Amino acid sequence: MTQHRVLKQLEKGERINLLGLSRDAMEQFFLALGEKKFRAHQVMKWIHHRGAESIDDMTDVSKKLRERLVEIAEIRAPKIIKQLDAKDGCRKWLLEVDGGSAIETVFIPDGERGTLCVSSQVGCSLDCSFCATGKQGFNKDLTAAEIIGQVWLAAKSFDSLDPKKHRAVTNVVMMGMGEPLLNFDNVVDSMNTMMDDYGYGISKRRVTLSTSGVVPQLDRLADYTDASLAISLHAPNDEIRDVLVPINKKYPIARLLESSQNYIARMPDSNRKLTVEYTLIRDVNDQPEHARELGKLLKDIPCKINLIPFNPFDLSDYKKVRDHDLKTFQEILHKMGHVAPIRTTRGDDIDAACGQLSGAVNDRTRRAERYKSGQWQSGVEPVRIIEPKN
Ligand code: SAH
Ligand code: SF4
Repeated sequence: MTQHRVLKQLEKGERINLLGLSRDAMEQFFLALGEKKFRAHQVMKWIHHRGAESIDDMTDVSKKLRERLVEIAEIRAPKIIKQLDAKDGCRKWLLEVDGGSAIETVFIPDGERGTLCVSSQVGCSLDCSFCATGKQGFNKDLTAAEIIGQVWLAAKSFDSLDPKKHRAVTNVVMMGMGEPLLNFDNVVDSMNTMMDDYGYGISKRRVTLSTSGVVPQLDRLADYTDASLAISLHAPNDEIRDVLVPINKKYPIARLLESSQNYIARMPDSNRKLTVEYTLIRDVNDQPEHARELGKLLKDIPCKINLIPFNPFDLSDYKKVRDHDLKTFQEILHKMGHVAPIRTTRGDDIDAACGQLSGAVNDRTRRAERYKSGQWQSGVEPVRIIEPKN
């Protein structure tokens, strides 16, 4: 067993946020305190199944141990600044994390399925030319507690933590703000807690990491998790991708596809498929020749291609794909034998589109003003603004 970094924190006397500890980390933490492993499982169940907010709530943990825990540990989720409900059932939270910056988390219901779109960083350093988060630059990596805290808050808000009850959050996609593979340890720990029976017990097919292609980290991902994988391809060739996703200049398409296939090949269950995300931008990557080139590029790769109409925002000159071009693009891929669903935009009235979490964030000053005034966006259908309980 490799030493988890929580032991270093403990040694240094740093307060441990129990919310962020994966099972492995929690077990190592309790063993280091001279306690039995099962304490770790007990505490995880309190936090993730019952939504305990305080160590004192854990009534089946001895008083002595609780007192010790209160001294050195805490359960602290990001603070809810605002919660917004869209008319189509999407719910968005604006959350404050350590350091004072804000992140967004979105819940997207779809029949029996409820997908939570989770952020991994504040901002992003990779600067993809069509992405609002990229325009913000990089601010900080989220801690594991801030990542799993998004799931914890969402599940609590729907009162659906108890695994025996109907659960609102059935799927998680790491498609909020940030590049998950650039915050590797915290993201991996959090995803493992999402899939853990002492955590949220979500199946590995329903927890998806999305990456723009940080190949060296993708190459080692299978050593740490078996969650599902999505890659943000957005182009059928390197020439176009170099412009849209600059990290492509370092790790071009061929290397990204090879690394992705290796990841899938290492999954214990066969018939796992790669998800390929393709954002269609008018006259940039949405023409029939692009569809044909894409179909050919992915010919031998078992995958599903999600077609996402580009979501325009203030700081970008790119335009949304025309409906006709979108349909033609899809038909070409279908004819070539590909599965290529169109991902419609949801929660429009609260700017909830996945990957567009910061769509309303282009101007941070204006945004701050809007939060203060309680107005999320002016000039759109009114949305119900729910103030957090405390
Ligand atoms: N950094 C990771 C995960 C976050 S982005 C990644 O790039 O995969 C999540 C998804 O939203 C990505 O596929 C991203 O390309 C897409 N996206 C970003 N900005 C968008 C926009 N303006 N319109 C549509 N999709 C966008
Ligand atoms: Fe970062 Fe993903 Fe946006 Fe690119 S698309 S800037 S990797 S968040």
